[in-house]
Amino acid sequence: MFVDRVKVHVKAGKGGDGAVSFRKEKYVPKGGPDGGNGGDGGNVIVVANANLLTLLDLKYRPYIKATDGKSGGGKNSQGKRGEDVIIEVPVGTVVKDAVTGELVADLVKDGQQIVVARGGKGGRGNASFKSSTNQAPKWAEKGDIGEERYLELELKVVADVGIVGLPNAGKSTLLSRLSNAMPKVAIYPFTTLHPNVGVMQDIERSVVLADIPGLIEGAAEGKGLGIGFLRHIERTRYLLLLLDVSSSDVRQIKKDYDTLRGELQSYGKGVDKREYLVVGNKIDLLDLQAREKVAGILNELTSATFMVSAITGEGVQELKSYLFEVVGKVREAEVSDEEVVERLTVRFEPDMIVEKDGQIFVVSGKKVLQMCRMTDFENKEAVSYFLGRLRRMGLKKRLRRLGAKVGNVVNIGGREFLYEEVL
Ligand code: GDP
Ligand code: MG
Repeated sequence: MFVDRVKVHVKAGKGGDGAVSFRKEKYVPKGGPDGGNGGDGGNVIVVANANLLTLLDLKYRPYIKATDGKSGGGKNSQGKRGEDVIIEVPVGTVVKDAVTGELVADLVKDGQQIVVARGGKGGRGNASFKSSTNQAPKWAEKGDIGEERYLELELKVVADVGIVGLPNAGKSTLLSRLSNAMPKVAIYPFTTLHPNVGVMQDIERSVVLADIPGLIEGAAEGKGLGIGFLRHIERTRYLLLLLDVSSSDVRQIKKDYDTLRGELQSYGKGVDKREYLVVGNKIDLLDLQAREKVAGILNELTSATFMVSAITGEGVQELKSYLFEVVGKVREAEVSDEEVVERLTVRFEPDMIVEKDGQIFVVSGKKVLQMCRMTDFENKEAVSYFLGRLRRMGLKKRLRRLGAKVGNVVNIGGREFLYEEVL
């Protein structure tokens, strides 16, 4: 089975909590604070690996979580960092946010990677908050939560050769003849619902082939198996148009050819501009005379034509040699204008957002919400440190500009304060 689209839920690790601790030494009645920091949570990272061909493994791992950071301890001991989780995917995988549909990354190069969920920051221990005015802080930060996301991964096959043809033309049979793939050979149309990928190898070269099913009349308009399968053609370098020529009928063969060309054209995206060759299949069913006739018909269609029997293997070796050669040329031509564009999105979120909602002032923003998550609101000292930081971020000025006055309610990340407390 060829899985080309999966959804996974990823969750980065939580940051470890900071510790509250004081030195205990003989003869020292009141030692200084020595609570260590919590470790950061592990990240979830997606990495492209050229040796993988499918997203199949992920189908059985719908929920992927990195480990949490450990809490800090006494004697300034730092909590261990959570471990990252690496999700390996084939080159050609497009990562999207499954909820918003937003593009997260387009992994087109081997080894390319992106952090899809960032681990939560570890909280600082009380040793970090010692100051001239507070020699013995009795509080620490909590670790932040890890990012969590629902992702859709889609593999757009990067194949050298896309085999296109009407149902039953013999695509799957030819693919298995040409390569090491063992696709299901169907006796009726529409069985091959996913493209099969195979690798054709000789000593120093390898060519990736993809059997692209679903190319039927009307497929480009979304009928039948439709567009979902055709999108695999977008990432092929060269096309092999396969025709069942067993009828040896001029009208039938031309009609099939026109149907294929028409599909490619209406699909757009430059697919019909791809170089291609035409292969007539099932010649084992033809006598000598019929073969000559078919050869004539094919030569009228285009310049590069081959006649094979995918079943008996006749003519397949010649086709193979030609494909090695032509793919080599197409690849070379590509190198010059190959420009790998790394499309990784960086979301911009302000640190602090201050808004007026009726009579209430609402404070949010990336940094502010993180501070809320990391603050122990049960602890007075921690709360006053929290408010002090907000003040230094300019909260007072922003509130005043919006017309806040004594007695007004200020909602900070879901918690209510009075304006005068924030001052
Ligand atoms: P696909 O739908 O294009 O993938 O076609 P398949 O590879 O599933 O083949 C469809 C049918 O045609 C199967 O019954 C194959 O055995 C048969 N077939 C494929 N290639 C040949 C061939 O060269 N000669 C003959 N006689 N039958 C073939
Ligand atoms: Mg097939």
